[in-house]
Amino acid sequence: MDYIEIEDLEIFAKHGVLSAENQLGQKFLISTKLYIDTAKAGLTDCLDYSIDYATVCAYITDYMQANTFKLIEAAAENMVNDLLLSFPIIHKIDMTIKKPWAPIGLPLKTVSINISRGWHTAYIALGSNLGDKENYLNDAISAINSDPMCIVDKVSDFIETKPYGFTEQDVFLNGAIKIQTLYSPKMLLDFLQKIEYEAKRVRTVHWGPRTLDLDILFYDDEIIDEDTLIIPHQDMINRDFVLIPLNQIAPHHMHPVFKKSISELLASLTEKN
Ligand code: ATP
Ligand code: CA
Ligand code: CA
Repeated sequence: MDYIEIEDLEIFAKHGVLSAENQLGQKFLISTKLYIDTAKAGLTDCLDYSIDYATVCAYITDYMQANTFKLIEAAAENMVNDLLLSFPIIHKIDMTIKKPWAPIGLPLKTVSINISRGWHTAYIALGSNLGDKENYLNDAISAINSDPMCIVDKVSDFIETKPYGFTEQDVFLNGAIKIQTLYSPKMLLDFLQKIEYEAKRVRTVHWGPRTLDLDILFYDDEIIDEDTLIIPHQDMINRDFVLIPLNQIAPHHMHPVFKKSISELLASLTEKN
């Protein structure tokens, strides 16, 4: 993707672990790549379709001087997050913060931190089979959308489905959504679990009744296999209550492991049943 690059913007500020660094201050050099689609600005020659790098330089300078962090890791993390939220045209930011005067008593050219953060696309499955199911699903979507780190792009219809696994329970209401998010996969899981918890979800039986269940189906094309998080969702290809709503909002989305589209996966499942 296209980017605008700012190299070694010089700022005097007061970040550091040592109290002398917080009091006296020192020089920082900030380089950043702002990933945007520049084609429209290029074709129209109009700044409205791009980003004003003078504004971004002033923003970074103000941010570095208005805050005091112990770590340049924290300065970079917080500032990049703020920039992504303040300038929605930016998809992704790479940032390097260099400390040329790092007070370690040894000669060095610079010490630096380098991070890359941006918006990601995730698909989430929603389910409820206890209480006012429709309300639980709608409230969950509102809670996700009202978090600044998430934007809900698409919402499927809610469909009624028979229970899966533990079948002695009420029917489920299921849906799927597409979101843009600044959260990492782990942070997104934590955030969704907090929403489940706030919906007073009580889990007694695995696959048993619950007010709200939020599962991450996809996170970009990432394949994650960890103890607490598996993406793409492990059993999704066997579940019509996941694939039917997902097929409404993302029929051509490719499953990164099976290399088949959602509509193909749904067709194979329907054939099998
Ligand atoms: P299933 O995951 O088969 O649909 P479930 O939704 O009933 O079952 P839960 O009790 O809601 O299971 O979740 C159990 C654990 O699954 C969670 O604590 C979480 O750590 C883990 N997990 C692994 N991968 C995912 C994912 N992609 N989305 C949500 N949770 C996940
Ligand atoms: Ca589930
Ligand atoms: Ca779950």
